[in-house]
Amino acid sequence: MNAIYAARAPHAGRLFNSLSPYAARAPHAGRLLNSLSPYAARAPHAGRLFNSLSPDGGEGWGEGRSRNAARLRIAATALAALLSLVPAHAAAALNIVTTTEGLATLAKEAGGDKVQSQSLSRGIQDPHFVDANPALAVKLRAADLLVDVGLDLEIGWLPPLVNQSRNPEIQPNGPRRFTAASVIHVLDVPTGPVDRSLGDLHPAGNPHFMDDPRAAVAVVAGLARKLSQLDPANAATYAQHSADFQRRIEADLARWKSVFAPLRGRPIVAQHQTMSYFFDWTGLRAAGYLEPKPGVPPPPSHLANLVQIVKAQGVKAILVENYYDTRSAEVVSRHSGAKVVLIPGDVGGMPGASTYESYLDTLVRLVAGAER
Ligand SMILES: [Zn+2]
Repeated sequence: MNAIYAARAPHAGRLFNSLSPYAARAPHAGRLLNSLSPYAARAPHAGRLFNSLSPDGGEGWGEGRSRNAARLRIAATALAALLSLVPAHAAAALNIVTTTEGLATLAKEAGGDKVQSQSLSRGIQDPHFVDANPALAVKLRAADLLVDVGLDLEIGWLPPLVNQSRNPEIQPNGPRRFTAASVIHVLDVPTGPVDRSLGDLHPAGNPHFMDDPRAAVAVVAGLARKLSQLDPANAATYAQHSADFQRRIEADLARWKSVFAPLRGRPIVAQHQTMSYFFDWTGLRAAGYLEPKPGVPPPPSHLANLVQIVKAQGVKAILVENYYDTRSAEVVSRHSGAKVVLIPGDVGGMPGASTYESYLDTLVRLVAGAER
């Protein structure tokens, strides 16, 4: 029976390993041992376990008996309680933690009801700078899979959280880590030397590919493959979800592209290098960026140049993700006549943009609307 559960349950191997004499060396042993410790109240299933050990909440258990006998009894009951949790665990959805809301949506597209997904940041936040709150490390500790964007987007905040999580399998290149950038065609890869000390945020290429539906399709396909490795019993389901998503997005893409067909080659200014992928599939063109380099705030001379470019090329819109300060954009707008257009930075970045498709619909409507 144990062997059957071990084979079918995603968490079973982990649990049985940690009950073995080699527990200390098993990857998730720490998680289990902690849940048996006095600090168990912070572990996900601890409350359930301890309640089942003690009819009166734990205090006074073993009173009137020898301490050792009580300990043995607790250990035996704990073991039984843990084993009884295995089938429940087996039925539970894979717990996917993502760095961004957009990735959480794509993980749900790939996994459907076989997974639950939650994001460490929100779509209204600047994904370069997320507060590395210890509560996020606790989420990572319980993650069956960590999905990140990659290309150094999260370099300022994710590595310390992953270290604090003490979940070795979600480390970079670990078996429970999926980096979305690994499956997409990366744009804006620097050709010359890059100096981070100059503030350049993206030395490995542009990580802002969520506004490219083709990249989203590739990410969902990659996630489906990863989920199939972690949960082979449902591989066909994940493949089906990926195929369904691709079919839906290809239909959307035809519709979205038709909106931009009459606008091909139109110049646009953006705040940050977030629109390269969007421009690539819509046929729009970057006339310039408010930031002289990704992550570098614009000096007045740069804004003055931009005003000249906007006037000379007839740029109509300055696109700014709504998590950025708009003062630089307003300066250029005031001196050139181009209008500032606030756009969502990701899924969840604006009301009505809670799914991947509604996020893209919103972006298409705002950008195309500004060009009319
Ligand atoms: Zn960036």
